[in-house]
Amino acid sequence: MLKAYKFRLYPNVEQRIYLAKTFGCTRFVYNRMLAERIKSYEENKALDIKAIKYPSPAQYKTEFEWLKEVDSLALANAQMNLGKAYKNFFRDKSIGFPRFKKKTNTNSYTTNNQNGTVYIENKHIKVPKLKSMIKIKQHREFNGLIKSCTISQVPSGKYYISILVDAENIQLPKTGSKIGVDLGIKEFAITSNGEFFHNPKYLKKSAKRLAKLQKDLSRKQKGSNNRKKAKIKVAKLHEKISNQRKDMLHKVSTQLINENQVIVIEDLKVSNMLKNHKLAKSIADVSWSEFRRILEYKAKWYSREIIVAPSNYASSQLCSDCGNQSSQTKNLSCRTYICSVCGMIMDRDINASKNLLKLAI
Ligand SMILES: [Zn+2]
Repeated sequence: MLKAYKFRLYPNVEQRIYLAKTFGCTRFVYNRMLAERIKSYEENKALDIKAIKYPSPAQYKTEFEWLKEVDSLALANAQMNLGKAYKNFFRDKSIGFPRFKKKTNTNSYTTNNQNGTVYIENKHIKVPKLKSMIKIKQHREFNGLIKSCTISQVPSGKYYISILVDAENIQLPKTGSKIGVDLGIKEFAITSNGEFFHNPKYLKKSAKRLAKLQKDLSRKQKGSNNRKKAKIKVAKLHEKISNQRKDMLHKVSTQLINENQVIVIEDLKVSNMLKNHKLAKSIADVSWSEFRRILEYKAKWYSREIIVAPSNYASSQLCSDCGNQSSQTKNLSCRTYICSVCGMIMDRDINASKNLLKLAI
């Protein structure tokens, strides 16, 4: 199974020059090949276009020596991409003829890992042709063989690398552990083992700052330069919050998947709860639905089981000890479940997660 991981890159000045060169060369090769194909298409409309032989990037190198300064796999991938676009066009003319790549929208190139030429070591990544290693912020570990990677530069100037990993046959050892996970508002998740996963404080901080920046933006005159600047600030913070949130969701889901064979979660009707305005923001912040999606695909990767409780299962209203049902916890401010039948006293969320766990047994 192939998996893609995206990380931020921090190239130094020298490396940036090399990357800019490679972006340029791959774009050049792509556009030059496209120009040749367009010319030949105009001249040979009646011929079988697929039968015509075109020069390869290797042949270009004798004509344009500077192409030798960059990764030849990057050039080969540019050729392959054009080949695909071209084939698609002949298969379905409505797709349109491949277009020339402009400098503004295609600052990226793809290379392959041939015989271990791509690897990560000491927070740096080695890519073909470049002698020095580029600093990488690898916020997530992965197992498996690196197949290829695509380095890109986004309009804000940041660099990213998307790494395609072959994770076939990588399995976690089977475990007998089962767990119920209650998703909350105050805490992000509470498990039937009594473990709390807190909502990170920085998320709250960022959300506060976002509200302020959005207010600033609304005050700026339309069409003004200051408005543009404020807009970029808002966009950047949005990106940051989304990354912070994803980071948390991955950490929690990875731990749960690593440690448990079966995970039981609630079927949260998020859209229903969003109507309650007060809760809306915190729900958006913790993004339960995103969490469920991540849990489910990781479970598939590692042969774990996710059980989703039926939506009518009153996990927070049942006593996890004797099974008696009480409506005391319908009030969200009631933090402790006190059973009037058996006398059990327990944190409301831990009680709920213990009830979820029962669905796995
Ligand atoms: Zn009870």
